[in-house]
Amino acid sequence: MSDRLTSNWTAVRAEIAAACERANRPVDSVRLVAVTKYAEMDWVRGLVALGQTALGENRPQQLIERAGTLQGAEWHLIGHLQRNKVRAVLPFASCIHSIDSLKLLARIGEIAGELGLTPRVLLEVNVSGEESKDGFSAATVRGDWPQIQAVENVTVAGLMTMAPLTDDPQTARPVFRRLRELRDELQASAQPGIALSELSMGMSGDFAVAIEEGSTMVRVGSRLFEGLSPTH
Ligand SMILES: *Cc1c(COP(=O)(O)O)cnc(C)c1O
Repeated sequence: MSDRLTSNWTAVRAEIAAACERANRPVDSVRLVAVTKYAEMDWVRGLVALGQTALGENRPQQLIERAGTLQGAEWHLIGHLQRNKVRAVLPFASCIHSIDSLKLLARIGEIAGELGLTPRVLLEVNVSGEESKDGFSAATVRGDWPQIQAVENVTVAGLMTMAPLTDDPQTARPVFRRLRELRDELQASAQPGIALSELSMGMSGDFAVAIEEGSTMVRVGSRLFEGLSPTH
């Protein structure tokens, strides 16, 4: 495998470990989800060979195709999911980070019941309030929380957010903090059996800050593949 892929992966893992140490958190409290949406299949195989198990795709169709050709990995859907794609993607996705409405969650519960599955899902919340972003607003997720918890055949495991893209990762810190506070608030009013243990936050530019603010899943793409030359 390319030396560059190995050194990128090693560097990202070292930065995750360093951020955990600064935050007084165990290193295994944060999972790296390698976002492969722009990666060639050879690179993806290379990552899996290095020991990377969690892979993230933002388009359902590409996740389905890739999961069909590469076994031994755990595929996470991190991008927008239309209700008419739920049936096709559910058998391949071990975690869906991008639940952005009660209607979508209800549809997933219905189809999961038919297929005999219980997918892990995260609620995507647009805490920054940017108009361009998908996700529940904080107000909507609070309002829908009773109905969200009533959906069967799904495990609602936590929250996900995207911070605004900026050059300074510190500007993302309040966004990550708000997601953690919202998680704490929803957890405090949760029914028994609901555990919002996951916070999916942090990407290539800001994952260290996200870890300091409590992230349990960082979704890192471009940092892993920088310096690699595409073959086509
Ligand atoms: C592409 C993508 C990422 C990874 O972004 P990088 O900046 O390349 O690390 C993370 N989350 C989502 C939802 C994405 O679409």
